[in-house]
Amino acid sequence: MGIKFLLLGALVGLLLALQACTATSHSEEAGTLGRPISMAAMERILDHADQAGPVELQTFNSADWIADLSGLVNLDNPEAKSAGLSAREEPIQVYLYALRHPTRGLFLIDTGFSAQMAHDPGSLRAGLVMRHEMHLDRLSFHLGPANVLKTENEPLRGVFLTHMHPDHIGGLSEIPLDTPIYVGPGETKERHWTHFFTRAVTDRALEGRPALKTWNFAGAANDPAQELAAVDIFSDGSVFALSVPGHTRGSVAYLIRTTHGPVLLTGDTSHTRWGWEHSVEPGSFSSDRVRNRISLLQLKALVARHPQIQVLVGHQP
Ligand SMILES: [Zn+2]
Repeated sequence: MGIKFLLLGALVGLLLALQACTATSHSEEAGTLGRPISMAAMERILDHADQAGPVELQTFNSADWIADLSGLVNLDNPEAKSAGLSAREEPIQVYLYALRHPTRGLFLIDTGFSAQMAHDPGSLRAGLVMRHEMHLDRLSFHLGPANVLKTENEPLRGVFLTHMHPDHIGGLSEIPLDTPIYVGPGETKERHWTHFFTRAVTDRALEGRPALKTWNFAGAANDPAQELAAVDIFSDGSVFALSVPGHTRGSVAYLIRTTHGPVLLTGDTSHTRWGWEHSVEPGSFSSDRVRNRISLLQLKALVARHPQIQVLVGHQP
């Protein structure tokens, strides 16, 4: 009897410990870059601005990879069922983006993987479970932030993250320690059992860095479930952060008025091209599928109102 209670207590304790695990022990603080802007005001800029914007955007494929389709797409969604989708491996890519603003300089959006993370993840505290579950042995690495930055003539001014999963911060080991890093509010504090296996990697990636800066979405939308909240990052209508919680608590999409027209980076609000085109939210990789779906449909509605927007999904061309 006593042993049973002891085991039960240990199990409950373990479950509580898993649930209580935040994404990182690193701190976040309110950032001062950018200002909240209403959807209506942002969309007026899209309507009235020339097709071409001021920002150069370049996409880099950090790695080819595979992932479980059941994580990338909610296979229980009726649309996925009627398309006959079932659990299998899906080819994906891991991206980082360079953003060059004419006066504010060079920024990266997400970081892809570093060479060290791709070739020796254990040295960056990726444990066996994480390496196995994420199929890190199936990664075909091409380039990391160091390869991108060495061809630039100017210093890196900041990194804008879509969220903090390892395939988006896996290149931080090649980013200078004093570079400001921006995330959605609450991203560091999200509690999820998978953090039990990823937290050491995230903490290591952020070691020695200043507190993460959060986008100030406060007051940008009356009801975030009805309307996207946005921040005008450079206060000049060129780049916007959009709050899209669901995949993670602080997930962010970015809308960029590039020299080739407006581009939407959905982040992992939609990993796949199929998911975007069929309005099917991600599956087990998202912490809140219902909220993720709301964010996905909000992004789709934005693009429906402004069909000139080019959409780049999280992990496929
Ligand atoms: Zn991802």
